[in-house]
Amino acid sequence: MSIFTEMESNVQCYANSFPVTFNRAQGAHLYTDTGEQYLDFLAGAGSLNYGHNHPELKKALVDYIMEDGVTHGLDMHTQAKAEFLSTLQSVILKPRSLSYKAQFTGPTGANAVEAALKLARKVTGRTNIISFTNGFHGVTLGAVAATGNQHHRGGASIPLSGVTRMPYCGYYGYNADTIKMIDKQLSDPSSGVDAPAAFIVETVQGEGGLNVATNEWLQGLQALAKKHGALLIVDDIQAGCGRTGTFFSFEESGIQPDIITLSKSLSGFGLPLAIVLLKPELDEWAPGEHNGTFRGNNHAFITAATALKEYWSDTQFEKEIAEKASIVREYFQTVADELGVTHARVKGRGMMQGIEFRNGEIADRITAKAFKNNLVIETAGNQGQIVKCFCPLTISKTDLKQGLDILLSAISAEFNTELKLAS
Ligand code: PLP
Repeated sequence: MSIFTEMESNVQCYANSFPVTFNRAQGAHLYTDTGEQYLDFLAGAGSLNYGHNHPELKKALVDYIMEDGVTHGLDMHTQAKAEFLSTLQSVILKPRSLSYKAQFTGPTGANAVEAALKLARKVTGRTNIISFTNGFHGVTLGAVAATGNQHHRGGASIPLSGVTRMPYCGYYGYNADTIKMIDKQLSDPSSGVDAPAAFIVETVQGEGGLNVATNEWLQGLQALAKKHGALLIVDDIQAGCGRTGTFFSFEESGIQPDIITLSKSLSGFGLPLAIVLLKPELDEWAPGEHNGTFRGNNHAFITAATALKEYWSDTQFEKEIAEKASIVREYFQTVADELGVTHARVKGRGMMQGIEFRNGEIADRITAKAFKNNLVIETAGNQGQIVKCFCPLTISKTDLKQGLDILLSAISAEFNTELKLAS
């Protein structure tokens, strides 16, 4: 019996899909204790947009540690934090004409979501939060109340309250005007829906199945929030930090959320770090009112500032992401075209794309086959029916194509056919 079977709780899950022991990682590759190499198309569920052990980030961190830089400073001022904040301001916010204050929360995505929900309720004096079908926001009690997935909701073991669910963009098909539906319910004093403190939304639903909100829908949602005196929270924990092609996933839509949550790839190195970006006028917090021992992670500040400078000071990285996203699209479209829409559909945008199969069993068999050929790739969606390509954004085109080829072979084997790219 392995130490994992002996000691680790049944709650552990990823190793069920990938039953090996990893001990080294570099770029888009993971290596096992026996020296086997795997391509990583899971990338820490979106926490490793710049790959494993990025050399520049690693050097900055190692230098900082060797100089005895502060590791833990509660929420005190440190030079590392100053550097991170000024880089965030100069590299990300100012060029996008965005003005936000930053709240450091506990280091997980769910910690940021909890703080965002709490702030929205505090500022508006309302309790109801509107979240969306298939939304995923984490598994702490407040965040899981806003999450749709029954598997995670059931784990709470108490009634989940304070949230009303509304249909996400396209939930009833893209011809249904869900913004109008929500507006009607919020405008009707007898609809049974309490006035919301906030809407919390992912622009592309990561865990929920790579469902994409259109720019018009996001604009409509912003207008709706304004009309009904609610705040708009964009949960950019998974879709942000470049995953959809721009630093913030909502940039193309032109909306300016009242609150933004970021985590996962923010540190750039897989180190835990989460922030809530809030419009300055919403900063009604009293000192320490929402606290936590691990707010702000100085090591993560160092790697985050380095990553922002390295990748976001100009538009080169955005161009690279777009090129790689079109490679993924070409592969996935080939699968969809060959198998037909009843068997396979392309989902998502940017480097947040996947293929939807008829059910979770098919998707599981495909990812298992891919793993046998040294590709780590996972599923998403309400039935786990979507094979989700989540490789590092920094992956070389050669590695990207190699991983996609492995995936194509796995799909070919599942459907007893031979899928090939046209070009
Ligand atoms: N919000 C979104 C959109 C996420 O995808 C996730 C995690 O996948 C979370 C929140 C929760 O983040 P964490 O798992 O770090 O608590």
